[in-house]
Amino acid sequence: MNIGIFGGTFDPPHMGHIRLAEKAVQSCNLQRLILLPSAVPPHKKSDTSPYHRYNMAKLVAENYGYEISDMEYQKITPSYTVETIENFQKLYPCDNLFFIIGGDSMLDFEKWYKWDKLINMCTFIVGTRKKQEAKKVKEFAEKKKLENNAKIIVLDFDPVEISSTQIRQNEDFENIPDCIKDYIKENSLY
Ligand code: ATP
Repeated sequence: MNIGIFGGTFDPPHMGHIRLAEKAVQSCNLQRLILLPSAVPPHKKSDTSPYHRYNMAKLVAENYGYEISDMEYQKITPSYTVETIENFQKLYPCDNLFFIIGGDSMLDFEKWYKWDKLINMCTFIVGTRKKQEAKKVKEFAEKKKLENNAKIIVLDFDPVEISSTQIRQNEDFENIPDCIKDYIKENSLY
């Protein structure tokens, strides 16, 4: 079985995340897609509790036919993807694991903890976030395939150019699904 894991802070989840998830499921024949809300890294400022971020990701999972994992979101210590993938490999030993990321995350890959181990632990599915970044992302992926024998699929993808930061700062709720809009209102977030 092909299982896709999609990690993020989801503060809040938006159509950029959802379009990427949909495209990954279709293009890579994923039978299961698991949303993995992560702990907020120290460099990202957020007042949103892990509880609300988890609930919002869960709403997306319920509304779009995905699953949700509580493996990371409440951790106080950093969650390293290399450890997360090891845990998923134990949970699903015979399955093909895919990890879904945006182009910005791919370009930062060499800053990830133990990236040179992680790169051979699963197949990466990459969706470019900005049209002008596409060439750079493809070149980076080709380089990693050659140098590290990595498995990377760069999606042919028309991105929704939005970020959670923009949504929080501008209180612009256009690019988020209705279930998340309602949740934000009901809980007076942002
Ligand atoms: P923030 O603005 O708070 O940093 P974000 O919008 O980048 O948040 P995250 O939840 O941190 O969202 O992102 C999770 C993953 O989804 C990352 O790999 C990121 O690159 C990817 N991603 C986020 N937004 C998009 C988008 N609009 N298109 C494609 N990928 C995206």
